Amino acid sequence: MIVVFIGPSGCGKGTQAEFLKNKKGYTHISTGDLLRSEQQAGTEIGCKVKEDIANGKLISDDIVLALVKKKLELLPKNGILFDGFPRTLKQAKALDLMLLDIKKEIGCVVDFSVTEDELYNRIKGRFMCIKCSRLYNDPNYMPKVKGVCDKCQSTEFKTRPDDTAEVLSKRLAWFKELVTPIREYYKQKNLLKTLDASQSILQVREEMVSFLRI
Ligand SMILES: [Zn+2]
Repeated sequence: MIVVFIGPSGCGKGTQAEFLKNKKGYTHISTGDLLRSEQQAGTEIGCKVKEDIANGKLISDDIVLALVKKKLELLPKNGILFDGFPRTLKQAKALDLMLLDIKKEIGCVVDFSVTEDELYNRIKGRFMCIKCSRLYNDPNYMPKVKGVCDKCQSTEFKTRPDDTAEVLSKRLAWFKELVTPIREYYKQKNLLKTLDASQSILQVREEMVSFLRI
């Protein structure tokens, strides 16, 4: 099945994405990761992205779409999970066309619903691995071995400088504006499932699993 996650940064969708990836064999396509790896590889797109981010610009639809298309061409056999994509209506419509090309379609769009207060409480404790960028949360989602990253075994962590109430509020307003037309688009296609992301990780997972019928 092809699944799309909608939700602001910090809503817990990353944790659920890990579950689909590790336990259910989904291919996780995160535009954040795609953009980061282009930058690290120093490609032409990567340089452009770096420049846009430095100038506080949004990454253009064309760049994001090109990266997703490249990834889709590898044709994963199991499920595909899109995370952080699509972010605009143009991207959503383009994705439908790309999937049509490979005779696939979106099976479910999971909307992670969470209030600003809850979100702030959550990101307050957030920290990440310096090496692999895996996110953790104190006290809800700590590394399995204290002080050691689950994913890459690094022992160095940092908090994100943009995790303040003010930045969050701005980011959320921007997110809402961006995402409202996409929600509407998928709602009309009868694909949108809203889950209460303020629940525990396990409860959220159960709700998600029932939506996806996996
Ligand atoms: Zn790590």
